[in-house]
This record gives sequence, C-alpha cells and structure tokens, in this order.
Amino acid sequence: MSVIIIGAGLGGLSLANGLSRAGIPCRIYERDESAGARKQGYRLHIGDVGDSALREVLRPELHELFRATAGRALPHTNVYDERLELVTRLADEGTHLNVNRFTLRQILLHGREVCYGKRFTHYETDEDGVTAYFADGTSARGGLLVGADGINSPVRRQYLPHAEVVDAGLVHLYGRIPLTPETRALFEPEMFAVFTMMLGPHRTMAGFAPVDYAEPVADACARLVPDLRLRDTDPYLTCSIGARWEVVGHDEAGLAAMTPGDLQKVALGLVDGWHPLARAMVERWDVPATFPQPIRTSVPIARWAPSRVTLVGDAIHAMSPAGGAGANTALRDGAVLAAALAGAPVLDAVEAYETAMVDYGFAAVRESAENGRRYLGQDALTAEA
Ligand SMILES: Cc1cc2nc3c(=O)[nH]c(=O)nc-3n(C[C@H](O)[C@H](O)[C@H](O)COP(=O)(O)OP(=O)(O)OC[C@H]3O[C@@H](n4cnc5c(N)ncnc54)[C@H](O)[C@@H]3O)c2cc1C
Repeated sequence: MSVIIIGAGLGGLSLANGLSRAGIPCRIYERDESAGARKQGYRLHIGDVGDSALREVLRPELHELFRATAGRALPHTNVYDERLELVTRLADEGTHLNVNRFTLRQILLHGREVCYGKRFTHYETDEDGVTAYFADGTSARGGLLVGADGINSPVRRQYLPHAEVVDAGLVHLYGRIPLTPETRALFEPEMFAVFTMMLGPHRTMAGFAPVDYAEPVADACARLVPDLRLRDTDPYLTCSIGARWEVVGHDEAGLAAMTPGDLQKVALGLVDGWHPLARAMVERWDVPATFPQPIRTSVPIARWAPSRVTLVGDAIHAMSPAGGAGANTALRDGAVLAAALAGAPVLDAVEAYETAMVDYGFAAVRESAENGRRYLGQDALTAEA
C-alpha cells in the first residue's frame, strides 16, 4: 500500500521525491489550494545537510538546477554591533547556498502530483493500514501515514499529544529588499555573505542575507529543465529585525492585525539610533512582502514505539531559525525515511528512521535554541518530556 504524505512543504516533498526514485508509490495531500497560495519566497540557507539530502532525492538534472538557482554567498557570518563595528567574523568551509524558498519548492514539486485543497483532520489505524480523513469529507488509505504538516501538525497533535511546541519569547519582522544597483551600493562586499547580523541593545538583532544569482534563473532553467518555469527570478536580500516580545512592545495578535507598512514602522523604531545602514535597509523593504514571524520551538521528547504513523520536519522538530537548520533537517528527514522504506518492511523502516531522526533532529532543536539564547535572548528550552 502506498505512503500517505500530509503536507507539501520541504519535508514532505523531499520524501515524495525520494520515494519516487525508489519506486515506492505515495500520495501528497496539501491544505493549500495551490503551490503558490501563500507568500513564501523568503531566503533559506541550505548547507551540507540539505544539499546532500537533495542530491539523494532529486533526479540529477533537478539537483543541478537547484545548485544553479541557489545564490552563492561568501562563506562566513558577520557579527557587527549597532554602530557597525565588526565584532567577529565566523568562517565555515562547508556548502553555503542562500535559496529562495519558493524556487526550491518549485524544483521539488516538478513531476510530483499533489492533491491540493485537502486539509487533514485525523486518522485511524488498524492491523494492516491507516486511513487519513480530510475536512472535505474524503479519506485516503495507505500503509504508512507521514505527518509533514509543519509546526502546528494535526498529525502530531493526535499521535504524540505530549509533544509540545512552545513560544521562544521572540518575534522577527521579515522584510525583503530587491537588489538593484542602488541597494547593492549600501553594502560592503564582505556583507554578501551567508548571513550578517547587527546586534543592538536589549538583544535586538538586524539580520540580512542576499539571494544573489551567479547565472540568470531563467537561463539556468532553460539549460537544465526546460519544461519547468520558475516564478521568482530577481535577486533580493532578506532582512529581519528580531527581538524579545517585550522589546517589540506588541503581542502576536497586535502584530498580526498590522498592515505591512505598520510592521515596517515597528522595525524602524527597533533600529532607531543605530548605524544609518540599519535604517536604510528597513526603509528599502518591499513593503507588501513584510510579515511578522513569532518564533516557536519543539521541546524534545523521549523515543516512542514505531507504528504506521510517523512525522518529518517541523511537525516533530520545529526549531528557532537561529541555527539555520530547520529546512535542512526537514530535507534530511525525507531522504532518510525514503532510504529506510526502500530497504526494509514498513515498521522496521520507521524504527530505523525514527532512531536516527530523534537523535539528529532534537540535537538541531537544542543547538538552535542555544544560538537563539546567545544572540537574541531566546528562552531556555523547558524541561524535556
Ligand atoms: C522566516 C523563516 C526563515 C527560515 N530560514 C531558514 C534557513 O535559513 N535555513 C533552514 O534550514 N531553515 C529555515 N527556516 C525553517 C524552515 O523554513 C522550516 O524548518 C521548514 O520549512 C520545515 O519544512 P516542513 O516541510 O517540515 O514544514 P512546512 O514547510 O511548514 O510545510 C508544511 C506543509 O503542511 C501543510 N499543512 C499544514 N497543515 C495541514 C493539514 N491539516 N492538512 C494538509 N496540509 C497541511 C502546510 O500548508 C505546508 O505546506 C526558516 C523559517 C522561517 C519561517
């Protein structure tokens, strides 16, 4: 029986591609009405973990397209203070690809069939299978149900109700700056790096990272996968202002109710008095693309017995973005689970996958929380269940 995947995000699509390469049938069910239904073009940093997973699950020409459409960044993270005095430069020799999330999703979606408009509500298991139910009254039957349904995962809520997701005490305001000759000139060449942060008073941070292409996206696509049309082709710079809630001075509902222009004003207030670069960046945000992102994290839990239900990505190990590891780990989950299912009966495969994933996934949650604590004053993880 086929694998039922709930959620066409990075984890679910990595798994679907891996299963397809292994000749294992699967169906993907996604609540959104289409692939591009939500704004999602923010930048992701993909390192060795994510790139290796993509190499495993994607057809070679799609992996090559992923590499060709990923922005190359200088292999370091700059840390400045709010006066733009360099505090430290953290170098790392590994893979550094700053990618547009929607471009990566389009590549992962190529050749995959997704059932859109299917909001999963609950499941039932029996001796030889599992049935997933959807809000439109339909259902699907398979041999394994995989919750790839993100941080608020309804699959996790039913399957592991004791697994908590908690507020990290922080919120980021995300903006996007189109890279033009005028905006490029604002930045020193060494700032076209994996990530640059300016650390200000009260643990407020302005972070920025370019998605800057070595080859025009449309040319790379025409050369490598001509039947795919990538939507986003322009270089940009992601810029986020992050702080603790009490420093921002608004709660989640308050920020959610604001217009993008008001969010930009809140961001400007947070960098008031900093080096003029901070203000200049926020002023150049593409205002409609601005959004608030409350930061939440999973609390690691002890292993559970394997069954015909499992979880990948943020559904089981959501983490602070301070580690730049959430997407990488979700992609890895898909590759590890697909490889396990290709080599063993379903319950053995789930056990092998969960043994590995609980180890590396929760390690990433802890490391990301520690980074968030160091740079942004993120709350310590609560006691583990
Ligand atoms: C602003 C921002 C910046 C980030 N930067 C980085 C970075 O630089 N590097 C990095 O590694 N990570 C980064 N992350 C984290 C990364 O985006 C996530 O870890 C990753 O997207 C998780 O993938 P996923 O597939 O598990 O979940 P998601 O991408 O959230 O996908 C879940 C999917 O499930 C669907 N779904 C949800 N509920 C249902 C339902 N009931 N029925 C059907 N479908 C459902 C959703 O619509 C969605 O399509 C960042 C996150 C944010 C928000």
